[in-house]
Amino acid sequence: VRTEPGPSTLPDEGSDEKAMGSLGPAAAGVYVHVPFCRRRCPYCDFAFEVRPADPRYAPALLAEMAARRGELSCAPATLSFGGGTPSALPAADLAALVAGARSILALPADAEVSLELNPEDVLAAPAAAALAPGAPGGGVEGPALPAALAAAGFSRASLGVQSFDDGVLRWLGRAHDAAGARASVRACVEAGLRTAVDLIVGVPGEPAARLARDVDELLALGATHVSAYLLTVEPETPLVQLIAQQRRAPVDDDAQAAAYEELQRLLAERGLTQYEVSSYSIPGEESRHNRIYWQGGAYLGLGPSAHSMRPLEDGSVLRRHTRARFDAWLADPAGAARDEEVLPPAAAFLEAVAFGLRDLGRGVSLEELAARHHLGDARSCLRVRAALLALGDDVLEGADGRLRLSARGARFADRAARAVLAADDDRR
Ligand code: SF4
Repeated sequence: VRTEPGPSTLPDEGSDEKAMGSLGPAAAGVYVHVPFCRRRCPYCDFAFEVRPADPRYAPALLAEMAARRGELSCAPATLSFGGGTPSALPAADLAALVAGARSILALPADAEVSLELNPEDVLAAPAAAALAPGAPGGGVEGPALPAALAAAGFSRASLGVQSFDDGVLRWLGRAHDAAGARASVRACVEAGLRTAVDLIVGVPGEPAARLARDVDELLALGATHVSAYLLTVEPETPLVQLIAQQRRAPVDDDAQAAAYEELQRLLAERGLTQYEVSSYSIPGEESRHNRIYWQGGAYLGLGPSAHSMRPLEDGSVLRRHTRARFDAWLADPAGAARDEEVLPPAAAFLEAVAFGLRDLGRGVSLEELAARHHLGDARSCLRVRAALLALGDDVLEGADGRLRLSARGARFADRAARAVLAADDDRR
């Protein structure tokens, strides 16, 4: 998650947890990191390498999956491909990885299977030509990739559209144009994939009507989910240099704040609910995978630069991460997750609170999380409750005792997280 836009409509206090899709602490997900990108977007600080998709990647990933399956204590509810650029992989490789997850990890037939796609990949003939023999759409030019993905078991596509405005896309240095973005959304929807659109908001010089046009376009095309990210100038990205060379205008905080508020209003008016700090959806179209993160479920991260988390029986949490560089990971994918740390129960509790607050509908029960992390000492809850309530209107306490970020608080979720973690400092 890059950064937070502000809130739009928040669910009412005391929302029905079933309606909000509570997954419970037993839910587990699998994340697959695909590190390849065809080019570097100047604002991006994600974990990626500019290189062609490597044919050794999928077999190595399957080997890692087999070697690490014991790290999951239950069948995963979700399988999510992120990157990098998952759609840089041949469709046949993606299909083989989903099939591998079904046989190796017992991924259920009704699991959410999602991937991030770049619009320029969706309609590219090379991707269609790479389909497995006999796969629906195989060898057919045009929007064949979404159909092949649906046939392979993918249920959800998250498209890196960012905007339908050509000027904004040029500013961001994206490889696709507005026409390609439209066609890619249309193709995914027509293939029957639940389609989510990523937007980057607060781009300097964007037209006043840009956000309204973007929102209307994505909804008219059939997308049901929006992930909206504030443009952030990350250190050591090419965007820093571009701004220093006056080839891009600097980011204006006030203009960004205004853009967020407008986006929140636009999405709320059109019936989308903000269910997480950066995520909005038509009810029922939330990302199940991301909710596992916010609700403290276990996740297994495969591929280079992937993180895993697993609760341990004593209330602590085991975190693992794989080697960051593709070549280092490829040298020993079965032993990729050698870097690990155990977060003691008290620290794991604080982290669970900080993450859980991002789930705007469900919020957090401090007592529930303290029990999950075996903290019998009520002072931990008191300390964190005091730290959060000191944020004033940013945090609401419901009649059910759960703490939730308010509309304003969601905009400053990082501040709330810092307050929670500082409660740990007080303890030391
Ligand atoms: S924004 Fe996506 S496509 Fe662009 S460099 Fe980053 S990971 Fe790659």
